[in-house]
Amino acid sequence: MTPPAQPRDRLRVALQKSGRLGEPARELLASCGLTWRESRDKLFCYGESLPVDLLLVRDDDIPGLIADGVCDLGIVGRNVLVEHGLEREASGRPARLTEWRQLGWGACRLDVAIEEDDEWTGPQQLEGLRIATSYPRTLARWLAEQGVDAQPVLLNGSVEIAPRLGQADVVCDLVSTGGTLRANQLKPVTTILHSEAVIAGPSDTLDDGRQEIADLLMRRLDGALQLKESRLLLLRSDRRVLPDVLGLLPAGHAPTVLQVDGRDEVSIQVLVHGPVSWAKLEGLKHAGASNLLVLPVEGMLA
Ligand code: ATP
Ligand code: ZN
Repeated sequence: MTPPAQPRDRLRVALQKSGRLGEPARELLASCGLTWRESRDKLFCYGESLPVDLLLVRDDDIPGLIADGVCDLGIVGRNVLVEHGLEREASGRPARLTEWRQLGWGACRLDVAIEEDDEWTGPQQLEGLRIATSYPRTLARWLAEQGVDAQPVLLNGSVEIAPRLGQADVVCDLVSTGGTLRANQLKPVTTILHSEAVIAGPSDTLDDGRQEIADLLMRRLDGALQLKESRLLLLRSDRRVLPDVLGLLPAGHAPTVLQVDGRDEVSIQVLVHGPVSWAKLEGLKHAGASNLLVLPVEGMLA
């Protein structure tokens, strides 16, 4: 690990330049009130509203940039972070990186996939086979856990066509819908890692002004993540069925119950974390609630 030469008073966050995670990562940081000025080559963004700069890179480079102290935090798939950690470990250089937050998007699985027409009887079936993957360390760890001796074959792209090209017998690849596998006559049979986008950062605290900035950013981020999930549920209920209706409300903050002028009716409002399903609304209506409204929340300060 190469420590930064000078204490720094600006935080540097590595994001994927393009690809699946780049845009949502920038949107997330923008929702924390961050604004930037882009460099001409669009690889560096200078933070204007907070001392938080962005470095836009390939996702595979993000863990290394943090481990080497070039960047302080990064937004990257867990799959990339885990593979990097195992690689560093294998070369005797513990990465000391960890997941600071799970972001709930960019979800995918690292799956073993076999030919569509083959039967799957379990991991033992992989004994002696060549498995094409871009995640050889993660695969090797799983194979060891299963007590299976197979050979990971490292491919950096087009993993799913490897069996047809004779480069491997089966594959271990990232899957979200399974469409790419199906298009290549493959089927996923077992998951070796569940992934999503995460904030990656050092396991130790940053030892200069950056920690304070990181704390501020994490506080805003937690607020933004919570806000994204929050809904305000408004409804009315006859007083006689109020206990039933209250009992059905989704878990969240304590509801506010107000008397409706001139009627034996109350108006209820409650902040809910997570989506409110149609089934939940229908259940409330069935119990006697009316005028149900689900509203997005634009801002929150407890
Ligand atoms: P880069 O040019 O930055 O190296 P890439 O081609 O390696 O890009 P993307 O395909 O943009 O990367 O994927 C970035 C991340 O998105 C993956 O590492 C993974 O965490 C996540 N992801 C979500 N769904 C999928 C999917 N179906 N296939 C691949 N990655 C997925
Ligand atoms: Zn990549």
